[in-house]
Amino acid sequence: MKVGVLALQGDVREHLNSLGWLGVEAIPVRRVTELNEISALILPGGESTTISKLARTFGLFDEIKKKIQNGFPVYGSCAGMILLADRIVDGIRGQETFGGLNITARRNAFGRQVDSFEGEIEFKGIGRLNGVFIRAPWVEKIESGVEILATSHGHPVAVRQGNILATSFHPELTEDNAVHRYFIDQICQTSKGK
Ligand code: GLN
Repeated sequence: MKVGVLALQGDVREHLNSLGWLGVEAIPVRRVTELNEISALILPGGESTTISKLARTFGLFDEIKKKIQNGFPVYGSCAGMILLADRIVDGIRGQETFGGLNITARRNAFGRQVDSFEGEIEFKGIGRLNGVFIRAPWVEKIESGVEILATSHGHPVAVRQGNILATSFHPELTEDNAVHRYFIDQICQTSKGK
């Protein structure tokens, strides 16, 4: 199985490393030809507005959207969660998302006091892990079909809907690969990705 990391902006290298440590073949994706070589995709942390604009520029936007709708396994961390949300709050005017997750995500949700922080969270199916939050979104509203896997400050910060996994925090910035392993074992191995 080959996993792609959308490599337009953000912490691409860190996700590639996390996958590499798990022994999973991983490539950066900047073109449609690369998108067609992979069987799962990670949307990294970074800046969601920049990533979605660049995805349009590189002709990837509609292709990714279509794949997600067709059951392609995809995991988004932080900005990646925003990009997977069907609805967002506090986006910039006209901000587009790939969608697929039946949630409303609030950008830059944690207040100024806790803008960026680390904290222990309980992740369903994994157990305790250290969450690194950097100007992170939270799930403001959840609709049918979405399972909550972790919460922090009273809001969901890890969710799953079928082939789609999203976390507000950044496992790729830690040496704990449990969330990447969860994505590979629980979603990629069981979904109908190529
Ligand atoms: N606030 C950023 C955004 O809106 C996300 C921050 C992150 O990915 N660390 O895209």
